Amino acid sequence: MSAEVETSLRAPKAYDLARQAIAAMEAHKVWPTALNFELWCHYVTAKDSELAVEIDQMLEAGEPFTDAVGETLAARFLPKQKLSGELLDAGEALSKELDSVSRAIEIARESSEAYGQELANAKESLAGEDTGQIKAMVESLTQATQRVREENETLEGQLADTTAEMGRLRENLEQARREAMTDGLTSLANRKAFDEALQRACAHADATGETLSLAVLDIDHFKAFNDTWGHQTGDQVLRYVASVIGRAGNSLRTAARYGGEEFALVFPGESAREALVILEDIRVEVASRVLKRRSTNEDLGAVTLSAGLAERQAGEAPAALVERADTALYASKRGGRNRTSAADPIAAAA
Ligand code: GH3
Ligand code: MG
Ligand code: MG
Repeated sequence: MSAEVETSLRAPKAYDLARQAIAAMEAHKVWPTALNFELWCHYVTAKDSELAVEIDQMLEAGEPFTDAVGETLAARFLPKQKLSGELLDAGEALSKELDSVSRAIEIARESSEAYGQELANAKESLAGEDTGQIKAMVESLTQATQRVREENETLEGQLADTTAEMGRLRENLEQARREAMTDGLTSLANRKAFDEALQRACAHADATGETLSLAVLDIDHFKAFNDTWGHQTGDQVLRYVASVIGRAGNSLRTAARYGGEEFALVFPGESAREALVILEDIRVEVASRVLKRRSTNEDLGAVTLSAGLAERQAGEAPAALVERADTALYASKRGGRNRTSAADPIAAAA
């Protein structure tokens, strides 16, 4: 019951107004229920109110004042004050909800500016007085919020999917890149990776003035070994030799399978003298190992390695460095195999 009617019904003319209400109800064949009495008290007290105007229009149109009509009018006009409080509470809860959605959208960098403006307007409007307008505002905002929330959830879902997909793609790419740079049989760097590593090492040496050494290694009489023991056993030996050479590799040194039964080691920042020590360790270790065929435990004897070593000359091209190391390797072969030769006479003297 509105404050205006409440006051009137406690004023001296209260009984008069109550009687007027009852009379009007009787005249228009309206049942004297508590709800109808409240409505008609409004009617006779505030003749200019929205409620009274609506009732007048109904009466003029000859519409019967049924219980359903009374309930609809009461829902629209009577619980105004109580409803306003609930609406303000709902408005506040809604605002909080909207704020959290807004934050999520901001994070997703979706256009929230217009929406934020709508929120500001809504907060202002919610403090207003017109119940009908506030109710409509809350309803439209609730729908807008729901829409934005759904859009945001979709975005977040898509973002998560995309992120996961990107992670998978990056992994695949990384895997493919690794495979493209790795020799399948020995897991050492392959020829392509070797070429790139040598290129990088030369560029680094040019930039820093540091030295750089290159070794090439080749298994001795390996054709004969294959002919005697078979290609598969030959593969096992290749893997074994590769594992020994690979142990010399580290984050700086690249150990590669150059091709066939030939290997290479790039020694950035190391002189031929330093590299020679490593190469000799490898050569001696391989030569001293008596190999056994895995399946039959048959004694295969030992294989030996020949190596060629070259220290890079200032500004020397990668291909020229490889050429000199190869020439040194050839010298090792000619000299009787199972040995290391250096292209540089100074290193050779070491
Ligand atoms: P040298 O001491 O002069 O190096 O003699 P060699 O027999 O090792 O040299 P050659 O170049 O005549 O033959 C190389 C052999 O290496 C030929 C081939 O049977 C063997 N080989 C090359 N790649 C592979 C491979 O992937 N697996 C096996 N099992 N053998 C290989
Ligand atoms: Mg060879
Ligand atoms: Mg060979």
